[in-house]
Amino acid sequence: MRKPLIAGNWKMHKTLGEATEYVLGFRDAVADVVVVDVLLCVPAPLCSPIAKLLKDSNVRLGAQNLYWEPKGAFTGEISGPMLESVGCNYVIVGHSERRHIFGETDEMVNRKLRAALDAYLTPVFCIGEKIEEREAGETDNVLTRQITEGLKGFSADEIAKMVIAYEPVWAIGTGVTATPNQANDAHRVVRELVKAQAGEAVAEALRILYGGSVKPDNIVELMREAEIDGALVGGASLSVESFVKIVTYYETEATETPQ
Ligand code: PEP
Repeated sequence: MRKPLIAGNWKMHKTLGEATEYVLGFRDAVADVVVVDVLLCVPAPLCSPIAKLLKDSNVRLGAQNLYWEPKGAFTGEISGPMLESVGCNYVIVGHSERRHIFGETDEMVNRKLRAALDAYLTPVFCIGEKIEEREAGETDNVLTRQITEGLKGFSADEIAKMVIAYEPVWAIGTGVTATPNQANDAHRVVRELVKAQAGEAVAEALRILYGGSVKPDNIVELMREAEIDGALVGGASLSVESFVKIVTYYETEATETPQ
């Protein structure tokens, strides 16, 4: 059994004051959550103060990006060891906004995945097709390229330390969610690709999150799918109220009357 992981991605939102208020409320609201792992991926300047607020809580902390070199003359970049030193446990790698706004290639994503593991950070490795690729029937080819290039050179043991997030680009921040079936099918393709490279045991244990307009009113049906092991949540993680509802989706499930 894979323990679900529900991760929030704040993107470039919240000042220190706003973040502090959020985290104090969120930390207490999810303090009793044990059946899912909870993660907040915050802007880099907020990592250190938020790590202090999350100390001794059940909420893990992640960054949203890193550079592949551990140090050096790379003005403006942030390294894995820096993130680890301020209390990050995870880092998002290859988010579609990094790929499509900032031009990150599969090769850069591959180097960043290596940098994350070298710094003892769990990478949340994001993949996903654009709408024109889906409409052209290219989804599986795109996922195959992103997984093959992204995971190039990684051993089974290293892949076992990762989380993958399937995020169709057309569903991110658009309000359009992939249907549970579409997401489940894509996750199955990803798991098969991982199995081919890392073997069945690693593929079966790997958590594959879905991301793309996840909200309190669609998380339950997404999480019912066998291949969906959690969610990466952007917009709906910005309010404590909606993110707590997503994190505790299993309570809604439990109170629904069976058909
Ligand atoms: C994301 O930021 O990874 C994301 C999926 O955003 P949203 O939930 O807003 O679509």
